[in-house]
This record gives sequence, structure tokens and C-alpha cells, in this order.
Amino acid sequence: MKLHDQTAIVTGASSGIGEAIAHELAREGANIVLAARRSDRLEALASQLEKKHGAKTLVVKTDVTRRDEMERLVQEAKDEFGTIDILVNNAGVMLLSFLKNDHVDEWERMVDVNIKGVLYGIHAVLPSMMEQKHGHIINVSSVAGHEIFPSSTVYSATKYAVRAISQGMEKELSSSGLRVTNVSPGAVSTELTQHITDSEVKEMFASRPMNPLQPTDIANAVVYAVTQPESVNINEVIVRPTNKV
Ligand code: NDP
Repeated sequence: MKLHDQTAIVTGASSGIGEAIAHELAREGANIVLAARRSDRLEALASQLEKKHGAKTLVVKTDVTRRDEMERLVQEAKDEFGTIDILVNNAGVMLLSFLKNDHVDEWERMVDVNIKGVLYGIHAVLPSMMEQKHGHIINVSSVAGHEIFPSSTVYSATKYAVRAISQGMEKELSSSGLRVTNVSPGAVSTELTQHITDSEVKEMFASRPMNPLQPTDIANAVVYAVTQPESVNINEVIVRPTNKV
């Protein structure tokens, strides 16, 4: 129970990696604030965390692309638990498409969720973390934030941006006692690819066998980073599937 009495906000907690992170942080004793748009799923997860781990939870329906909703999320978390020790900026969308197919609305959505959502999270928690001189922000980037493949151009651009933000945070904030970890998963079995609409990309994925990671594999990396001594700042974690044949 290394996180007893600590409070963690997890965005995108309604499925996949965020849900698994919520479970693993609750297992370590943290109070968990669950954020996403599908509040029915968050309520169901909150009950599970309470029953399974005895966790204290708070559900705040949040659209990360709305700055006011991110500010409200943090305020409600502070009202309930006093301080925020960990923010996991996990919410994201991966609407892969080929540039020639011009899915410009999806480009905008990825910029809004993956970049602005992360920035609004930082904006909302930073003043109190600076005042506390303590806090850990986890930004979920991707292996696609380290390399680009056909159809990932815009998604990769957003995840490179997340890494740039993480690196800038380390340079600017570590002297204030804040820690930042950029987590870059490879392929993980979640709902993420179900939202892809470009039929050429769907065909490409269908013809490629994969051996993905499970969401808990990423959650374990997050727990590793946040349970280090305060003097240790794990800045970058890349987790790829082994792909053993
Ligand atoms: P899922 O689709 O399972 O989960 C995405 C989460 O993001 C959901 O909880 C969804 O909640 C939330 N979300 C999406 N849009 C918004 C929004 N506007 N406001 C608030 N929440 C939002 O995918 P994963 O769990 O796989 O993805 C989690 C993160 O991991 C993402 O940042 C993704 O880019 C990253 N990642 C995933 C990889 C993979 O292979 N799965 C690989 C590398 C990185 P709701 O719809 O309820 O709002």
C-alpha cells in the first residue's frame, strides 16, 4: 500500500489503459478520481474499486477538450480529498488515416483530445502542485510518439507533442519538487482502434496479426514510476510487446 492517503486523478478511466491504471493505483491504496465522458462506466468502475481494493473514489464526468471541465475536475477532487498527488493524463484517441484521404475533422479531434486535453490537465493541477512542492504528472504518449508509420502522421504528431510537453515539464518543474513521467505504450488490447474510420487503415490492420500488450502491463509501469522515492524522477518509460513468434 505504497500510495496510502495519496490522491490520483485518472483521465480516460472509462476503458482500456485508464481503467487498468485506476485499478493498480487503487490496489496501492490511493484515492482515485475517475474522469471521462461515459459516466455510467466510471460509476461501475468506482464500485469495483471500492469493493475490490477498499478505495475511496470520486467520479467526475469530464470532457478533456473543455478547459472549464478540467478545471472543475481538479476543483472537485481537491474539495473531496484535499490535495492531488498524481495526475494521469491518459485520455486519448487514435484516429489513424492516410493524409490523402483528408480526415481533417479527425485530425482536429486528435489535436483537441491528445494535446489540448493534456495541457488543460497540467494547467488545472499545476498551481496546487507548485504550492505543495510535490506532485507527479504522468502523460500517456505512445511508441507512435517516437516513430511514425504510414497513417499515423497526425496521431504521431500529437504524441510527439505529448513527449515534448513531458520533456519541457522535466526541465522547468523538477526543481520545484514535481515529477513527470512520459509513458509510451506499444500496441495494447483496448477499444482504441475501434474508432478508426479510414477503410484502408482498417484493411491494413485486419491483415496484420498482432500480439498486443494488456492494459495492466502499462498500469504496472505507471505504478513503478509513482512508487519510487520522491528523489527519483522516472522521466521516460517505453513498453513494447515482445512479439515472440
Ligand atoms: P480506449 O479507447 O480504451 O480509452 C480511451 C479513453 O479516453 C476512454 O476512457 C475515453 O473515455 C477517453 N476519452 C476519449 N476522448 C475523451 C474526451 N474528449 N474527454 C475525456 N475522455 C476522453 O484506449 P486506450 O486505453 O488504449 O488509450 C489510452 C491512452 O493510451 C490514449 O492516450 C492512447 O493514445 C494511448 N495509447 C494506446 C495504445 C494502444 O495500443 N491501445 C498504444 C499507445 C498509446 P470516454 O469515451 O468515456 O470519454
